[in-house]
Amino acid sequence: MHDGENIMVVLSSPSGVGKTTLTKKIQQKYPNFKISVSHTTRPPRSNEVDGIDYHFVKHEKFEKLISEGKFYEHAKIFENYYGTLKKNVDDSIKKNDIIFDIDWQGTKQLSKFKNLKLIKIYLIVEKSELKERLIKRNQNTDEEVEKRFNSFDENIKHWNDYDYILINENLEICFKQIENIILSHKKSSISFQIVQ
Ligand code: 5GP
Repeated sequence: MHDGENIMVVLSSPSGVGKTTLTKKIQQKYPNFKISVSHTTRPPRSNEVDGIDYHFVKHEKFEKLISEGKFYEHAKIFENYYGTLKKNVDDSIKKNDIIFDIDWQGTKQLSKFKNLKLIKIYLIVEKSELKERLIKRNQNTDEEVEKRFNSFDENIKHWNDYDYILINENLEICFKQIENIILSHKKSSISFQIVQ
């Protein structure tokens, strides 16, 4: 997967759809893909490691980075800031493909940078299934689960900002669909280089 121009894949979805699992699966199978590690003011969960899952920072530090124009994109989600540092992306894309696990607000902002060649994928599940998944993954309090569930309708309004919409009914099938998308873009960037 490393012969053509490196690509950037954005994966967005309402909370609880399985995006983080799919992102990690892609990276495991294709080590050339690096997951973009965001900055956030959200406190780490018990299984999360600073610098691997996120760069966990204080509110003041995040706001300083915003005022210095260091982010490609940032958003406030469920009362916390999340953002993608320009430097991390610019360094990483020289050698690797990148996968972004970010929300629709960030995707909109990233899309304005015409130098970034993005492949934007939006994942959904049936709303009736979502609550069960949010509870099952056991990462959030009841109040947080409710907030995440209630944000579903607002979130899916933005599906048409994306290049592909996938329904994650079955993890393996959805993974295969993402792989096909990635491989087809990799191939077209290789033939683009040969024509050049
Ligand atoms: P969580 O708190 O569950 O890790 O993430 C909450 C939401 O924040 C998810 O939808 C995730 O995709 C989004 N998110 C994570 N990092 C970023 C980022 O850097 N920018 C934006 N805009 N959203 C992010």
